[in-house]
Amino acid sequence: MFAGVRDAFVEGEAGHAGASLAARLLHARALTHGRLVLTTSFGLEDQLLTHAAVESGCALDVVTLDTGRLFDEVYELWAETERRYGIRIKPFTPDPRSLEPLVARIGINGFRDSIENRRACCRVRKVEPLDRALAGAAGWISGLRAGQSSARAAVPFLAHDAERDLLRINPLFDWTREQVADAVRRDGIPYNRLHDAGMPSVGCQPCTRAILPGEDERAGRWWWEQDGSRECGLHVGRDGRLVRAAAREDAA
Ligand code: SF4
Repeated sequence: MFAGVRDAFVEGEAGHAGASLAARLLHARALTHGRLVLTTSFGLEDQLLTHAAVESGCALDVVTLDTGRLFDEVYELWAETERRYGIRIKPFTPDPRSLEPLVARIGINGFRDSIENRRACCRVRKVEPLDRALAGAAGWISGLRAGQSSARAAVPFLAHDAERDLLRINPLFDWTREQVADAVRRDGIPYNRLHDAGMPSVGCQPCTRAILPGEDERAGRWWWEQDGSRECGLHVGRDGRLVRAAAREDAA
């Protein structure tokens, strides 16, 4: 697996500015020798990727992490997306053997009491289910963009995730929020109406608020924390660095 993934660092023309989303997805498909997974939280980027994957015939599994604390609007959009594209989006949910003792220990909203509690909640509700979603996968597509926050500024198109030993694929790495929104509008792709209410990044309901003018796109996530990284752990390695940045440096 490792040597195959290393070979896959050839971005080719698909990595160039202006390459179509379909070309990037099909390039990723060709480079990935095994199961290819698209994780969606039904954000604008994920909806565009789901649309492009279906339209281009890119064979992949679309999965989502149902934390149990999502907005009603997310569940409605999940159902609407399945109807629109004739697909099933596979859910991965928290393991009750981890969730029940966590809630008993910190309380139902104890994630607001400390960063440690918040990270523990994200680990049980998101990171552990993600581990199961990606078990045995050779490639992982997500909607990360460099423009989403300063912490994500170094997102590349392709990276080797050394911890998971798979290919990370970020087809929208060089897109702006406006380009994504324009494409969603142009193609009539279903999207979360909470974006129209000032929430460009929508996560769990108790941990998301609308952003203020001038704030970065992820400022409404865990807004009570002073730590600037505002990451839930899905894209962060054990060393605390964003996985793709670490992988890029490792590969250099
Ligand atoms: S975003 Fe909030 S509710 Fe959701 S898993 Fe993280 S801490 Fe828990």
